[in-house]
Amino acid sequence: MQVKGSVAVITGGASGIGEFVAKDLAKEGAKIVIGDMNQAGLDRVVGEIQAAGGDAIGVAGSVSKEEDVAKLMDTAMTKFGSINIVFANAGIISDGLMVNTDKAGKVKSVLSVDAFRSVVEVNLVGAFLTVREAARRMVDNGCKGVLVLTSSINCTGQPGQINYSSTKAAISLWPKILVGEFLMKGIKDIRVAAIAPGYTATPILLGMNQEALASVLKDVHAGRLVEPAEISSTLRHIVENEGIDGTLIEVTGGVTYGPRQRAK
Ligand code: NAD
Repeated sequence: MQVKGSVAVITGGASGIGEFVAKDLAKEGAKIVIGDMNQAGLDRVVGEIQAAGGDAIGVAGSVSKEEDVAKLMDTAMTKFGSINIVFANAGIISDGLMVNTDKAGKVKSVLSVDAFRSVVEVNLVGAFLTVREAARRMVDNGCKGVLVLTSSINCTGQPGQINYSSTKAAISLWPKILVGEFLMKGIKDIRVAAIAPGYTATPILLGMNQEALASVLKDVHAGRLVEPAEISSTLRHIVENEGIDGTLIEVTGGVTYGPRQRAK
């Protein structure tokens, strides 16, 4: 399978990792369909791809809404006639401790159910709808391709992210679940993989307090943030290496919590 000539549907492509991937795949000759809630960002990224000579279209909507995701995938089929690369990348955070205490040791706040549900709705339900709506069209139209999910290094369990870590841990199981289902049903031409980025240089992290960022980087062997280009080249490798299937690939620069803890 080649990136060149493939049709790539990318959710959350109006910013950060998704934006970089959309532009990178377009440069390599893929036709790009971007789904995002952020209309202004969508227009900007699609405009920049087209100005650089690429082929791209944007579809505004939320990955949490069934009808929006159906429209996104229908647009890919109608406009470009196929779906080959699906990057289920849209994701949000809403961090907080489940139970937070004051100086006297009494509970001053708890993580709201809204903060929990909103992250589940986008990161989990949204990713489910993205791969489901893509796969049903790929199967019915005989499209060869690959579904790529976005997990996170924090799928191993990050304090302050009970909602986010839970969604990313669940997603890390999907490549095995889905290739198992495809095997059962004789669906051979759709592979499934996931990428787990580490701390990546996107607007959220670059905008962080610099001291907090330096502290986070103490856990990273490379001593720096992962670049969106490194996520994108991993995605291209997944697309072009058909031996990669039913698996998760970490791209973290070597996040390690153990040695730092031991050094204390
Ligand atoms: P980002 O905030 O820069 O971009 C996310 C995009 O998703 C935005 O354009 C936003 O508008 C869109 N989005 C949010 N909710 C949506 C919805 N309901 N429907 C459609 N689009 C929606 O984020 P990023 O840092 O590029 O992260 C991208 C993905 O990578 C996320 O799944 C994130 O969890 C994962 N990730 C990021 C990092 C990191 O360090 N940046 C690390 C690990 C995993």
